[in-house]
Amino acid sequence: MIGYQSSLLSRTEVAEGTMAFQFEKPKDFAFNAGQYIELTLPGSQAAPSDGLTHTFSIANSPLDEELIVTTRMRKSVFKQAMSVLPIGTQARIEGPMGSFNLHNNTARPAVFLAGGIGIAPFLSMLSYATEEKLRHPIVLFYANRYLEDAAFMDALWNLERANPRFRFVPILTRTDKNYRGWKGKTGHISSEMLLTRVGILRGPIYYIAGPPTMVAATRRMLGEVGIDEDDIRTEEFAGY
Ligand SMILES: Cc1cc2nc3c(=O)[nH]c(=O)nc-3n(C[C@H](O)[C@H](O)[C@H](O)COP(=O)(O)OP(=O)(O)OC[C@H]3O[C@@H](n4cnc5c(N)ncnc54)[C@H](O)[C@@H]3O)c2cc1C
Repeated sequence: MIGYQSSLLSRTEVAEGTMAFQFEKPKDFAFNAGQYIELTLPGSQAAPSDGLTHTFSIANSPLDEELIVTTRMRKSVFKQAMSVLPIGTQARIEGPMGSFNLHNNTARPAVFLAGGIGIAPFLSMLSYATEEKLRHPIVLFYANRYLEDAAFMDALWNLERANPRFRFVPILTRTDKNYRGWKGKTGHISSEMLLTRVGILRGPIYYIAGPPTMVAATRRMLGEVGIDEDDIRTEEFAGY
């Protein structure tokens, strides 16, 4: 695996307790939308055992000049170190890795099912699909507990406006309808929800990313409505 040095350019809050980190894109670093990297913070010898290496999906388009990763900030060793990392610090990046990428056959729609910060690889794929005017019909179901937790909402609405083949369906799982004016969907992602926005459920390729429990429950639900295992792709964000 190729390793690179990359400096931290900026850090932005993108939802409550959720940050995006922008890193310099190393020269010659190329990736496919949906892939991930291993990020090692300085102070460790690139050894995962000391807690300073973590896996992150790249959240922006391969056409962008920099690399963005995004995460829920928690009290782990890694995230405490990350939260105080001075701008300009050199970190180590390994990758890109993974095959959680949009399929080639544009006749088959894509259904993206994101739980929380599992939005990261989808944001990359949607940005790229929109910029490149890819012809896949795409529906994104994006579940968060509360509106405050939902990162990149403006960016996703903007992508929906820019891409006539993309439909965005945000969902709040712990919020009642009309709470703070919420008019969107509530509850967990269900087959009924999919039916209203996807129509015929057999046909699309399904992509699921989020915490392991969400991925397992969503995969089970798809199995119950007869979706073929071959048409389901998953990325588990271990540690949530
Ligand atoms: C392919 C992939 C892409 C990911 N992309 C993102 C992303 O874009 N944003 C994001 O926030 N997170 C992502 N993750 C998860 C991320 O790597 C961290 O595990 C997560 O952010 C939790 O880190 P933490 O420092 O809060 O907790 P930690 O202290 O690291 O871990 C919390 C708990 O999870 C366990 N754990 C941690 N890592 C793993 C692992 N790999 N396998 C099994 N158990 C583990 C620990 O043992 C501990 O019990 C991704 C994971 C994978 C595998």
